[in-house]
Amino acid sequence: DATIAGEFGRIMDWADKYRTMKVRTNADTPEDARKAAELGAEGIGLCRTEHMFFGEGRIDAFREMICAETEEEREKALEKVLPYQQGDFEKLYEALEGHPVTIRFLDPPLHEFVPTEEEDIKKLAEAQGKSVEKIKEIIDSLHEFNPMMGHRGCRLAVTYPEIAKMQTKAVIRAAINVQKAHPGWKVQPEIMIPLVGDVKELKYVKKFVVETADAEIAAAGSDLEYEVGTMIEIPRAALTADEIAAEADFFCFGTNDLTQMTYGFSRDDAGKFLDAYYDAKIFENDPFAKLDQDGVGKLMKMAIDLGKPVNPKLHVGICGEHGGDPSSVEFCNKLGLDYVSCSPFRVPIARLAAAQAAIAQKKN
Ligand code: PEP
Ligand code: MG
Repeated sequence: DATIAGEFGRIMDWADKYRTMKVRTNADTPEDARKAAELGAEGIGLCRTEHMFFGEGRIDAFREMICAETEEEREKALEKVLPYQQGDFEKLYEALEGHPVTIRFLDPPLHEFVPTEEEDIKKLAEAQGKSVEKIKEIIDSLHEFNPMMGHRGCRLAVTYPEIAKMQTKAVIRAAINVQKAHPGWKVQPEIMIPLVGDVKELKYVKKFVVETADAEIAAAGSDLEYEVGTMIEIPRAALTADEIAAEADFFCFGTNDLTQMTYGFSRDDAGKFLDAYYDAKIFENDPFAKLDQDGVGKLMKMAIDLGKPVNPKLHVGICGEHGGDPSSVEFCNKLGLDYVSCSPFRVPIARLAAAQAAIAQKKN
């Protein structure tokens, strides 16, 4: 327990004196966020908003949104989700007491949210005033053979801007409220657009995100500041990072997807054959656990080298699983990342690894 006074706490304090990289956490519940803050997290580097939609009350409304056929129907359904989402974000800002909070907009394929039970399909049909057959037809139309390379990430924001607009309203309204309640804090929302592979996608989404956010801020007479950035998790984003940096306040490396797409290994199935790779001594490590510095790492370096000269204020972090692995943290330190973000219980390890990396770098 890194929060208790004592030797472990002292080591952590010592580590913090040496490290230059910040350590944030990946958290999407107030409990995780609080735990991570107790363990020394200096912000949220990744809030995956998708889990929030499964909460009671909102999943029905969200399913109505997915199975809507007009923009009007979709907006009506999303209006019901908005107060929940705003409450989610308020609790996260509260837990981090004014440290930056990066909120990643909805990422997974929509079909993950549709009902599978006959009873739920019936309920949805009734709520929508549609036939069960119609709902089933809509659900079938969402099926994809390669969902991880399909209709997800910023592609959802392009096809359903209403979702991103709702999330923007929730991010900004929550921040304004928490800022008002705690005038001593500087609530710092960072809106993160996932799965960008082309700057045109980011530009397209950013336009209505900024319009929505600015309208909210003006209506509240607030001076809240926010940022809009992107994940770098598709190789093409790293290869064209100069163009993307011109539109982004920050980059965050999503090395789970970046590893998947750079190797062409499915992140959900790789374990099945990777064992044979270790046996055959082709690989020593699982590239999803330890950052592949020769390939994925090269893309990260390229993204920074291309992005920083275009936007010197660009801040850069990592929020893939590698953010809590000591050797990967050391590599991130070498690349000059501003922060690593990892799961709450890995925060102390990351603090220590960041200090060791800083000391090793000084020596060399
Ligand atoms: C990633 O791809 O590395 C990432 C952090 O996002 P997710 O794991 O949610 O795809
Ligand atoms: Mg990802």
